[in-house]
Amino acid sequence: MAVCEIISVGTEILLGDIVNTDSQFLASRLAGLGISVLRQSAVGDNRGRLLTLLGEAAQRSDIIILSGGLGPTSDDITKEVCCEFFGKELELHEPTLEKIKSYFKGKNVPMAEINTKQAMLPRDCVIFPNSNGTAPGLAMEKDGKHILLLPGPPRELKPMFLESAAPYLSRFSDKVIISHSVRTFGIGESSMAEKVADLLDMENPTVAPYAKDGEALLRVTALAGSEDEAEKLCAPVITEIEQRLSDYFYGVDCGCIEEAVVALLKERRMKIATAESCTGGFIAKRITNIPGASEVFDCGVVSYSNEIKHKILGVDSAALEEYGAVSEPVAAQMAEGALRISGADIAVSVTGIAGPDSDSTNKPVGLCFIGVADKTGTEVLQINTGRRDRDYNRYVCASNALNAARLRILKKAPKG
Ligand code: ATP
Ligand code: MG
Repeated sequence: MAVCEIISVGTEILLGDIVNTDSQFLASRLAGLGISVLRQSAVGDNRGRLLTLLGEAAQRSDIIILSGGLGPTSDDITKEVCCEFFGKELELHEPTLEKIKSYFKGKNVPMAEINTKQAMLPRDCVIFPNSNGTAPGLAMEKDGKHILLLPGPPRELKPMFLESAAPYLSRFSDKVIISHSVRTFGIGESSMAEKVADLLDMENPTVAPYAKDGEALLRVTALAGSEDEAEKLCAPVITEIEQRLSDYFYGVDCGCIEEAVVALLKERRMKIATAESCTGGFIAKRITNIPGASEVFDCGVVSYSNEIKHKILGVDSAALEEYGAVSEPVAAQMAEGALRISGADIAVSVTGIAGPDSDSTNKPVGLCFIGVADKTGTEVLQINTGRRDRDYNRYVCASNALNAARLRILKKAPKG
């Protein structure tokens, strides 16, 4: 049986500044995987001492899991020292650099040059993507010894372990791990966790909440002697979660909200049309990203100017004048206009202030009205992201519009 040890890297652990919760988390998950942990140790951010410890660890263990020290600053040296220990060169990994760049773009902050360091990886490693930060983790092997590197911050380490490291480690266990992600929309991570609080204490399957791309999700992971057995453990828990989260729940293992909307439209044999202002066609793009969208997507109007809102979609000039383009009546009329001029069964509209600055009306940046129209009537939903980040606001407005369409279809066009 493969034996493993955990090394926590960070001077702050030795000084007692932080509690070593990473190590506790890793130990409990490794036990659950059927991998025995031989030793746990902590070491400072120091090249010589880490090299010595790696040397000792490699004598007694097949798998060495290190946490911490993957950051961009010069005191973060774990990856460099482990590569030195294995005699592996680091080289720039372009796809990782692109991911780091888009992570910063999403947050609307410039990327510091030192972050390039996090895209330097040994050539033949297995990369563990980081859904909550910039530093990817990785696994590398030499002469039958495996080193796994994970970031220090628990909110990065935990999902990375569940998503990538546990599947990598399953080769050392005679058990099978099956993991499913349950996707929700419109509920925050904490409120979601509250609704399933008792399930979070389960041991097999385990249920872990986390946030990704402005959505909250739950990962259900089971360990068993066979795939079938693991699926049988997951199934009732997923059904329970689905019931508790009712309308917030939109799918298991499905990629994104637009995928769920396209699948739902297909199932109901319905077509959708869009009328977009601040999202500039983004909803239409996201729908048409999904293969087979032609079956369900009728048309999209990017009515950026008031003139086009009026001329093409028939929005009342008086409403535009009185309430402004970013308003409830305009969102309603945009959706109704898109429904009228298209052959669609349902239409969604978006009008909002993406930022970074407000418009002449001084309405708050991040304010957005979403209209949904079908033959049963029109509804308008108001959201305010509270952020000045243009990319984020456009993404979140589009996601909310897609979700509003999903909820309308579920309620007003029930199956069969
Ligand atoms: P960063 O990019 O944030 O620098 P890193 O991978 O370099 O990440 P560290 O610099 O070692 O990680 O630690 C960053 C923070 O993560 C610490 O200040 C602490 O809050 C948390 N952290 C690190 N190691 C642990 C641990 N073993 N247990 C719990 N928290 C930890
Ligand atoms: Mg660091």
